[in-house]
Amino acid sequence: MSTASFAELALSPRLQQTLTELGYAAPTPVQASAIPVILAGRDLMAGAQTGTGKTAAFVLPLLEQLLQQPQAEPRPIRALVLVPTRELAVQVAESVARYGQGTGLTSTQVYGGVSIAAQVEALQAGVDILIATPGRLLDHLRQGALSLAALRHLVFDEADRMLDMGFMDEIKALLKQIPADRQTLLFSATCDDNLFALCKVLLRDPALIEVAPRNTTAAEVEQRVYTVDSDRKLALVEHMLKVKGWAPALIFSRTRQGADKLAQQLGKAGINALAFHGDLSQSAREKVLLEFRAGTLQALVATDVAARGLDITDLNYVINLEFPFVAEDYVHRIGRTGRAGNKGLAITLFSPEDAPLLEKVEAVLDTRLPQQWFPGFEPDLTRFEPEPRRNSKAAQKQRARKQALAGNKGGKGRKH
Ligand code: AMP
Repeated sequence: MSTASFAELALSPRLQQTLTELGYAAPTPVQASAIPVILAGRDLMAGAQTGTGKTAAFVLPLLEQLLQQPQAEPRPIRALVLVPTRELAVQVAESVARYGQGTGLTSTQVYGGVSIAAQVEALQAGVDILIATPGRLLDHLRQGALSLAALRHLVFDEADRMLDMGFMDEIKALLKQIPADRQTLLFSATCDDNLFALCKVLLRDPALIEVAPRNTTAAEVEQRVYTVDSDRKLALVEHMLKVKGWAPALIFSRTRQGADKLAQQLGKAGINALAFHGDLSQSAREKVLLEFRAGTLQALVATDVAARGLDITDLNYVINLEFPFVAEDYVHRIGRTGRAGNKGLAITLFSPEDAPLLEKVEAVLDTRLPQQWFPGFEPDLTRFEPEPRRNSKAAQKQRARKQALAGNKGGKGRKH
């Protein structure tokens, strides 16, 4: 289905005006498909990754429906958006405020890691839309700070990540406090059996929307995999940032320690880089993000969980220091670039010992990711162990490795 303009969607003049002011010329594919379904009151399961415009796809029809319902005072919470992380909570709350300007509808967000008292106060003022992470929302419910008895609309944003982060028990506990007679919308970048099982419990006769084929990456993102010796990765990242000018870049590290170390090393090399991970306090994280958004940082070195929910529209470069252990994280990582139609370059530094991880990622994407060499940073083939006995298992293995690496020589000629 394609909808050429927002005017064709049954959104009220106030929302149409906001979209014009924001300069949104036409709905994105997920918006064109989801908005009519949601306005019709149906449940929905949408496969859409971040950067597709999925937030407006549920926020706009939610606002529209709330505007049409009779308003009670004090305001009960009528719509709840559940998100996996506080960063995503902040980002969705910003979108709700942006799209809801001038409607008179109110919203607030609750998430862990900050004082609960200020959140209780905001809730007492009465809100139409609540954006929440599951754990903190349960804390509020246990304290009696809020009620979900009048809830009409429930949204799961980035549901796959919520399950990855082990929120299933919290979700079950929350569902007990939410009216069964409600509209439920579920958005997820990837889909596996666990998610399908959750959908079966949650959704009633849902409409299914798949924006990009299952588990694919945004088409605007060019993916490159460079084979490089582990001990030259730092030098290559420096070269990419300084010489190639591939900055600002979001760099992914598998571990918090790795992120700290790389940020420090880049700092020593004169590159303005900061780490971003779960060991930082909420205020430190916000400060780092502000700097990155303001464009003063050349590199943000993040872990997977921390980076979830980052919305930085002008991000052109993502660099994976190595493949993630969880293949689906690769899709999330590179979805950080190429957003809102921008072109993106997603680079992964690959060492031969990571071959099983590369294979897993290729299986998830259902596509091959050919490796290439970066001129000046070619892997050192002489480092292989001394020649083992001819035709021993070790010799066969070593020959195969050498052949695999040599086979990539053809890819060397690529210009950047
Ligand atoms: P999301 O996938 O919701 O994170 O949105 C990605 C980016 O696209 C956000 O920065 C939005 O402001 C922007 N966006 C959403 N819908 C549109 C649209 N119809 N036209 C232009 N930009 C949009």
